[in-house]
Amino acid sequence: MATSATTLIETEARLGAYNYKPLDVVLSRGEGVWVWDVDGNRYLDCLSAYSAVNQGHCHPKILAAMVEQAQKLTLTSRAFRNDQLALFYDEIAALTGSHKVLPMNSGAEAVESAVKAVRKWGYEVKGVPDGQAEIIVCENNFHGRTLGIVGFSTDPDARGGFGPFAPGFKVVPFGDATAFEAAITPNTVAFLVEPIQGEAGVMIPPAGYFKTVRELCTRHNVTLILDEIQTGLGRTGKLLAEAHEGIEADVTLVGKALSGGFYPVSAVLSNSEVLGVLKPGQHGSTFGGNPLACAVARMALKVLVEEGMIENAERQGAYFQAELAGLRSNLIREVRGRGLMLAVELHPEAGGARRYCEALQKRGVLAKDTHGDTIRIAPPLVITRDQVDWAMEQFAAVMTGTA
Ligand SMILES: *Cc1c(COP(=O)(O)O)cnc(C)c1O
Repeated sequence: MATSATTLIETEARLGAYNYKPLDVVLSRGEGVWVWDVDGNRYLDCLSAYSAVNQGHCHPKILAAMVEQAQKLTLTSRAFRNDQLALFYDEIAALTGSHKVLPMNSGAEAVESAVKAVRKWGYEVKGVPDGQAEIIVCENNFHGRTLGIVGFSTDPDARGGFGPFAPGFKVVPFGDATAFEAAITPNTVAFLVEPIQGEAGVMIPPAGYFKTVRELCTRHNVTLILDEIQTGLGRTGKLLAEAHEGIEADVTLVGKALSGGFYPVSAVLSNSEVLGVLKPGQHGSTFGGNPLACAVARMALKVLVEEGMIENAERQGAYFQAELAGLRSNLIREVRGRGLMLAVELHPEAGGARRYCEALQKRGVLAKDTHGDTIRIAPPLVITRDQVDWAMEQFAAVMTGTA
């Protein structure tokens, strides 16, 4: 007999650090947009592990690439070369138009790596006095959970009790180019920003914001770092969300779906001289750029493009958003999103999004509440129109009270 869901949940509560409060669904299998719990109930995954499984659960080609590579060579460290790293560089550089690539593991490590590189660039190239480099970030940002990163978070839960923090960061409101310009000084080395603020509740900046930001960065010799760890790799209906804005970042951070959910793989992509400042011994990672990660990432990128997932995200995302916007529900304050990065914000009187996520769970849809009143909807990019229709039936039942 398999261990029951109740026992597994109790064991987690007894032994695990209580740093997450998941829905009480214990999953044991996934395929495409679907996941199954230990009792065999099926759910449509509308979170996709925060957009790490854009390619769908257990994509067979990524699985095959992983198994094949795992049987040959998994880890060499960067003390020696491996035969997958150069191919990964080649393919991701060609796909994204980057000139330099730094492979890491988690998203937070990619962010930390970019912060390190851009500070060094500031001192060595821009000529900022030693120790004075400033990086501008946005209110309500989410860039990960490491100490360096939570130090410039504005979320009291993320930073409270974890100080002291590193200096050198300035916070400005997201979507306000005037405030950004006012914060720039001769010591500003970078602006680190998400194209759409995901964890903040899928916040889309005003039209033209990023065009202005791009111009200001160029004019003031400030490196524009776009954190596309969540928005990138097809989620918004483009390979990178920057394409919606008609701009190019100097440094782009990707992670999450870079492995299709098989393995932590992230990367710093640079089309300026920023990564060029790193010399041997100045930065590294035991697992970064390992052959298993590279083989998995190569296939994750290949299927994303070859199987039309990016176009599908655009098509099904537009359809899904229009259907959600058409729901006649007095619970809903706003529906927003881009591609398959969607959010339904409820009125405060609705009593919080969590209860609706629990109601959706009972009907076979897994979605995540965020910031109290918002339901995030981000299914794998392989979702079909029929599956959107089925999901909409469940949303309609829950949001219009016919449940
Ligand atoms: C998830 C996320 C990160 C952090 O990635 P981890 O792999 O959890 O460290 C950073 N930035 C954004 C925008 C994210 O969504």
